[in-house]
Amino acid sequence: MIKELQLRISLKEEERSDILVQKASHILDIDKEDITGVKVLRKSIDARKPKIIFNYKVAVYIREVLPKTSEYQFEYKDVSKAKPIHIIGFGPAGMYAALRCIELGFKPIVLERGKNVKDRRRDLRAINQDHFVNEDSNYCFGEGGAGTYSDGKLYTRSLKRGDVRRIFENLVFHGATDQILVDAHPHIGTNKLPKVVQNIRETILKYGGEVHFETRVTDFIIKNNKIQTIQLNNNEEMPANRVILATGHSARDVFYLLHNKEIALEAKSFAMGVRVEHPQHIIDAIQYHCSGDRHELLPAASYSLVQQVNERGVYSFCMCPGGFIVPAATANGEVVVNGMSPSKRNNLFANSGIVVEIDVNKDLPKYEQFGALKGLEYQKNLERMAFTAGGRSQIAPAQRLTDFVEGRLSASLNPTSYQPGLNSAPLHSLLPKLIGSRLRKGFEAFGQKMKGYYTAEANIVGVESRTSSPVCIPRNEHLEHPQIEGLFPCGEGGGYAGGIVSAAMDGERCAEAAIKNL
Ligand code: FAD
Repeated sequence: MIKELQLRISLKEEERSDILVQKASHILDIDKEDITGVKVLRKSIDARKPKIIFNYKVAVYIREVLPKTSEYQFEYKDVSKAKPIHIIGFGPAGMYAALRCIELGFKPIVLERGKNVKDRRRDLRAINQDHFVNEDSNYCFGEGGAGTYSDGKLYTRSLKRGDVRRIFENLVFHGATDQILVDAHPHIGTNKLPKVVQNIRETILKYGGEVHFETRVTDFIIKNNKIQTIQLNNNEEMPANRVILATGHSARDVFYLLHNKEIALEAKSFAMGVRVEHPQHIIDAIQYHCSGDRHELLPAASYSLVQQVNERGVYSFCMCPGGFIVPAATANGEVVVNGMSPSKRNNLFANSGIVVEIDVNKDLPKYEQFGALKGLEYQKNLERMAFTAGGRSQIAPAQRLTDFVEGRLSASLNPTSYQPGLNSAPLHSLLPKLIGSRLRKGFEAFGQKMKGYYTAEANIVGVESRTSSPVCIPRNEHLEHPQIEGLFPCGEGGGYAGGIVSAAMDGERCAEAAIKNL
């Protein structure tokens, strides 16, 4: 017999390894010996009150063998001689598109401008230490895309739970911890992601797919509104009739290429702001109502904040507890910050993007001349401003949080996890009013919501500009570009995803669409 239960476990009880069996036997009024296993289905922490509670949803197996089950089977077949589907970009969207092609009996040919995860590391070191950005291999470009050197948070607002579970199980199939199947806020961590990504590549190769690194798509040859050929690295040509375009939101050259070819694009609303960094112990103290170190069973605390300011949302984005701020620029001459964390989230800092919604139809009147690329140009300008204010390297402009809100230059800055370093700059006057004034009001409101959050011990670091794509590549109900037969815009770059899981789900959907009638 199997019984499902909701269990509430206190912090003290959580210390006991047999607590779930103990509680289940008590609630069900049966002997502990009759319980053959307790499977955790869901786990979350409720820290709203000083008495912290672990909420478990469990399946209790009574005199029944605990099965090793997954809801999905991943059956890959040899596709080496099958019809090809070309996939541009090997981020979460491209990876999952390739896996789905194999499941459906088609051969994915992946073209990725960046390097494999191992070689990519050297280029990340060069950004951090030498302040040199390789424009094909960086925190956004390379095997696994922007998702590899990230926090690996797997939270998504998607309501298609079945699809989300499938994505998670496939990550577990490729080496991620099965803890992600039960945690309310699952994450993998940047130290574990490269192995998962590498395993996905190995599956693709094993079953006859192809993955070409250091292969940038530089042109599309289109005849009679139908894709015919893709150009690689400005010299080679490859015939292709079904192309999944999963190049992410940072591939500006791809947006320019499409725009110059008069392939329809649309401006899309997005968000920009700064990253705020607190000592982790401050966030722990607020969220766990403690004064010293957090209890060892508690993970580094996170937060999620939102405030409406002058008709625009100001909100936290990609919060990384126990993490690092990283330089996420994709070209020299710009400074862009983002965040990542290791699986243990045991670094001393908590960072989060704090961004303001930008309504492209109302907020950028001076950029109308750029048409569909107006948001992109605005984004670029802000990143150039950050480059100049930081001192023309990957050093980022920064300010103490309280100095930013109160409008004065910081005489000194707090310690930071951002490796290239920080330069004190008057971000309160450098950021456009549209963003700066709303951020200031937003931070004040956040200080009311989380007592202790508004502190001189926090820095803000500029700029957090790549939250989502400022451009949408349109597609019809068959997920194909309305003008170009055979071109399937996919993932975050097309404007169809906002994170690892939604990009992966869109990759699967585009693979299913691309193979139709082939
Ligand atoms: P991308 O991941 O951007 O992949 C696009 C790929 O296309 C890249 O590998 C790029 O090199 C390649 N490419 C681009 N142009 C070309 C070309 N012309 N030819 C060939 N290849 C090309 N999301 C979360 O859900 N959780 C997180 O914790 C999280 N943390 C993040 C931390 C950081 C530092 C960053 C930068 C992002 C983070 N994100 C996170 C966002 C997440 O990574 C993206 O939403 C996701 O990767 C988008 O997937 P994608 O496949 O659509 O595009």
